[in-house]
Amino acid sequence: MLTLNSDVKYIKGVGEKRAELFHKLGIFCVKDLVEYYPRAYQDWSAAAKAADCENGAQVSIKATMIKPVREHMVRRGMTLYKCSFSDGDTIINVTIFNNKYLANSLKLYEDYILFGKLEKRLTSAEMSSPQIEKAESNIKIHPVYPATDRLNSKAIAKVARTALEALPEFEETLPKEIRDKYRLAPLDFAIRQIHFPDSRENAIIARKRLIFEELLVLQLGLLKLKSKKKTKTNIRIKTDFTREFYSLLPFEPTGAQRRAIADCIADMQSEYPMNRLIQGDVGSGKTAVAAGIIYTAVKNGYQAALMAPTEILANQHFGTLSPMLSASGIRVELLTGSTPAKEKREIKRRLMDGEIDLIIGTHAIIQNDVEFKELGLVITDEQHRFGVNQRASLALKGEEVHTLVMSATPIPRTLALMIYGDLDISVLDELPPGRQPVRTDVVNSSYRRRIYDFIKKAIARGEQAYIVCPLVDGEEPTMASAEKYAEKLANGAFYGYNIGILHGKMKPKAKDEIMRAFAEGSVKVLVSTTVIEVGVDVPNATIMVIENAERFGLSQLHQLRGRVGRGNAGSYCILISDSEGDSAQERLQIMKKYSDGFKIADEDLKQRGPGDFFGSRQHGLPDLKIADMLGDIETLKICRACADEILAKDEKLDLEKHRAIADKISDMFRNSVSN
Ligand code: ADP
Ligand code: MG
Repeated sequence: MLTLNSDVKYIKGVGEKRAELFHKLGIFCVKDLVEYYPRAYQDWSAAAKAADCENGAQVSIKATMIKPVREHMVRRGMTLYKCSFSDGDTIINVTIFNNKYLANSLKLYEDYILFGKLEKRLTSAEMSSPQIEKAESNIKIHPVYPATDRLNSKAIAKVARTALEALPEFEETLPKEIRDKYRLAPLDFAIRQIHFPDSRENAIIARKRLIFEELLVLQLGLLKLKSKKKTKTNIRIKTDFTREFYSLLPFEPTGAQRRAIADCIADMQSEYPMNRLIQGDVGSGKTAVAAGIIYTAVKNGYQAALMAPTEILANQHFGTLSPMLSASGIRVELLTGSTPAKEKREIKRRLMDGEIDLIIGTHAIIQNDVEFKELGLVITDEQHRFGVNQRASLALKGEEVHTLVMSATPIPRTLALMIYGDLDISVLDELPPGRQPVRTDVVNSSYRRRIYDFIKKAIARGEQAYIVCPLVDGEEPTMASAEKYAEKLANGAFYGYNIGILHGKMKPKAKDEIMRAFAEGSVKVLVSTTVIEVGVDVPNATIMVIENAERFGLSQLHQLRGRVGRGNAGSYCILISDSEGDSAQERLQIMKKYSDGFKIADEDLKQRGPGDFFGSRQHGLPDLKIADMLGDIETLKICRACADEILAKDEKLDLEKHRAIADKISDMFRNSVSN
């Protein structure tokens, strides 16, 4: 008997070979297929007369076959089958390519539905390769599935139908009172109707139910994550040292920075552990916020850890924070993958003995093999790279530690509140004063010479530039490669200049050296892959050139652009793209038009380019099968309220009626992305 866990190869008509085609779509078991929802439908129910249809339109026409199939072999491997139909007024001549099976199945004087593009002629009409179905077939609305070349939507539909017919009734997951209250269809109805709706209305009803369930499960999961963290903590900040900290800063903190620090201190003074997200656009000054709360935590006798996603960033944080904090007696150390073994051991010992107040490093290292004497605060920079799973395990050394995550991903606040449902949020909505917007231009590669001259002028003024290439040498030959590119510059346009190169395949130590040379100003031009995307801060760099700009998502471009415009000199971002596609050009123009990350995020959402903001990589949430975080934001809100209601009555979800939904939660969060 077929169950949801059965391998797809056991569905009648599939077998080993075709199962592989399904694997390509991520479908391995029957459940995957059931959750492989159509992306659209073709409505064949409104059968029209050819005379009433517009020329060139996609139509469905009910017609009788009036001339049998004639076979024409055009050449080897190409056979045409021609036949004619009548809808009572118009004769429709149909051509079928290479589909002998379909051609042979057609019977003279029977009624069919023809679905496809209609070409009108003076006295007749033509359809080329329409889909043809018997008129008495009760399928009126056909699902359209995301398909591949070798497995088309129709084939998927056929298998889905076979599977659904073989499966017993789907067990209901939502309690009746919730279905009643929110007017949701039963699960069995929803699943069957989403694939093969009897009417458009049913398709909508089915969709609504499935989206609701998915978002409800998401919200419940996130809220449970939050409540899990609601254990009291003994780590309490008694004295607020923020004023003292401000006197150490080389600048006046912005209002937003002050507010964020105050939020964090208040959290750490309460009896529950802090669990906060700081969202701030690139350059909004998150590092100073981190330093501020570290200062107070340490002055209250606790140790702190600052974790970064890359060594470059960890090094940079160390370089900024160590001098500032050491001056007031705070002991700061750096721990990364390239710290020599002996030194590592020594640092770990000192952490355990409480001889280090702040440890800065890559999160893998700090998370995995470090013990503290009196850890009170863990800060994770560039949090958007970490998934829900890591968020759950962030409070790493005991649940009561205060945790702060910092992210530059500008998610609209209402949405952030819901997708980061387990976190409190502070937003840095203000840039430090004196920042000039980065002037952005989109050009094609014929401008490259002029760009190089422009960079040389900037170097003559004592400034520096980044040039970003998409991939490292050899990975994708059609793209500008960083290594070759740097070599070409060094031997050509920039002969005699100090050109640096930075990419992900380099040893951490080599990366560090280059970054240091760039920060010190001895390297004038840094040719790099996107490893500089996250957080790097060299205020003296004023030009960012991005090759093959169309290959990047807007969020990535925004991050990259954020590497310049950090000092007081006017800065430039030059996007080079030879892509002539309208959508690529349009996306790049958005970069030119807006400098605010939130605006760009909104536009990105409308356009959905590569690597968009709401890809699972960006927000770190589980992949959703049917709901769309932004398109369904209203439902998301309703589900949040519903989830609150459920948890208020059954906090642990151990009532029998909530068993199925609890299973769904563990299902969703077990599979959630960990990247
Ligand atoms: P991000 O939020 O992108 O991590 P950073 O913390 O790297 O931003 O700060 C960007 C730059 O702005 C740094 O050079 C930092 O010294 C500077 N900066 C931060 N806060 C202020 C401020 N209040 N006034 C002036 N400069 C500031
Ligand atoms: Mg930063």
